[in-house]
Amino acid sequence: MAESPLLPYAFFEGKVVPIAEATVSIATHALQYGTGCFAGVRGYLDNDGSTINIFRLPDHMRRLVQSGLIIRADVPYAPDDIGAIIVDLVKKNAPKQNIYIRPFLYKAGLELTPKLAGIPAQLAIYMMPLGDYLDLSHPIRLGVSSWQRIEDDIIPSRAKVTGGYINSCLAKDEAAEGGYDDAIMLNREGKVAEASGANLFIVRNGALITAPITADILEGITRRSLVEFARNAGVTVEERAIDRSELYIAEEVFLCGTGVQIAAVGSIDGRQIGNGQRGPVTQMLQETFFSLVHGEESQYRKYITSIAIG
Ligand code: PMP
Repeated sequence: MAESPLLPYAFFEGKVVPIAEATVSIATHALQYGTGCFAGVRGYLDNDGSTINIFRLPDHMRRLVQSGLIIRADVPYAPDDIGAIIVDLVKKNAPKQNIYIRPFLYKAGLELTPKLAGIPAQLAIYMMPLGDYLDLSHPIRLGVSSWQRIEDDIIPSRAKVTGGYINSCLAKDEAAEGGYDDAIMLNREGKVAEASGANLFIVRNGALITAPITADILEGITRRSLVEFARNAGVTVEERAIDRSELYIAEEVFLCGTGVQIAAVGSIDGRQIGNGQRGPVTQMLQETFFSLVHGEESQYRKYITSIAIG
């Protein structure tokens, strides 16, 4: 059997088990109807290799439980309980590289009816090694997708609902087949929403601009953090609707999210952004973020959960 790409232990049905034992029936409601919600959390190996640092773990857990409320996936765990299970699981897996942590609240019943009420839910957590998800060494190329971002009254866009990610998958495939690294999705109003799995910022006249949380975006934790970092560094930040044509004339554009981290954008729909290179605001935010998660001294240290690994 091929070696699992996952770390050896998972949390499944209330306890820690070897990853091979964390399996579900093919009739599972979440598998059939996409009735799950998840978090995506990175663990960064500290510069000295002795700790795993997690950025804003309590915030990720709060959003997970809130996503669960939206899809009525009730589990007997408060956000801090799930955070504590993750800390223990990281210690048990004792990774020696950067990791990605995937907590998953899902409808575990075998009912046939596509509904939410009364179907029991479970919590599962697994982990895997993960380096950079997009190549951050050069600015990426984006294209505006023909797939529109799901609207909140179609599939709640601020919840990380598994079924909703079909929307991201369609856009990501189209982007790849068009020769782009990722897609920018517009919402039904034709305003810029976000990328397939990341929020988007532009810089115009020196001000940092991002879509508001009512633009059918996921309320990104990295997004919220970068707004704070930028304001504290004296950069003007605006949360407002962004037109497609503003993308083409921005001085800088970047994506941000747990998976993507902070990725400078070099072109959109074939038009070069700024001088095509990473801009100064993007660079400042990247440096603030990466030094923090790798354990360097920072005023944002409060956002890091450090887990000693033996
Ligand atoms: N938008 C989407 C659709 C995402 O999947 C993600 C990744 N979770 C983000 C934005 C970024 O969110 P965060 O910064 O909380 O990872």
